[in-house]
Amino acid sequence: MNMRLTAIQRFCLHDGPGIRTTVFLKGCALRCPWCSNPENISYEILTGKSNTVYGTDMDIDEVVRICLKDRVYYEENGGVTVSGGEALLQADEVAVLFDKLHSENIGCCIETSLMAPVDNLNKLIDKTDYWFVDMKLLDAAKAGSILNGDTCLYDTNLDILFKKVSKEKICIRIPLAAGITYTKENIMLLENKLSELNPYRCEIFSVHDLGRKKYEDLDMEFTEFEKIEESELRAFADRLSNRCKDTEIEILRI
Ligand code: SF4
Repeated sequence: MNMRLTAIQRFCLHDGPGIRTTVFLKGCALRCPWCSNPENISYEILTGKSNTVYGTDMDIDEVVRICLKDRVYYEENGGVTVSGGEALLQADEVAVLFDKLHSENIGCCIETSLMAPVDNLNKLIDKTDYWFVDMKLLDAAKAGSILNGDTCLYDTNLDILFKKVSKEKICIRIPLAAGITYTKENIMLLENKLSELNPYRCEIFSVHDLGRKKYEDLDMEFTEFEKIEESELRAFADRLSNRCKDTEIEILRI
């Protein structure tokens, strides 16, 4: 069985516990204007102006073989993270990959926006050791018009995840984009949602422009976001800490 991906990145430090290999899958329903992997949004294999080809269909055994190259570095808590694009959109393929990695005692982690059918999420619930779940724009109308998101689907999947998976296995990730997710209104919605969930761990970060060159290469419109100051990130983190007493909050400096 093949999976469609753009890259397998070794020695990643921000994609889960320990040292990890991250597999970037093709295809995503969302259109986040700050997306740092725009080449992964379309499921189609794309060719940039530089003739770079973004995407390939790779046999899952080959993905496993590449991931196993670094098993010596994974030690007890490292492993493989599947990111995207939206990893849940290739749930059948990811399930096969995770079964093969687990048979080699490799821990498996997913980064997801939860924007995928409930059935896809259910296929991976028992096969995933750690979840990074995005939390972005919570107003239904704005999520629809700006991100092409569906907050009903997001809430349903979030609810399933928190019911079926132990909290220690979930980290909520919040990308802060000035004028979109970082507005007074959305910050209030985020704080309310997180105080309801009281997650074990939450990471916040100011979105960055690391994907700029890929936008240019693919002739896609690039949106520049003002960097959110450290003091503002700290103030948001402190407010979250006050409202979610059991949550470990970390500011990521990407
Ligand atoms: S969910 Fe992730 S991959 Fe999809 S558009 Fe947003 S940032 Fe990009």
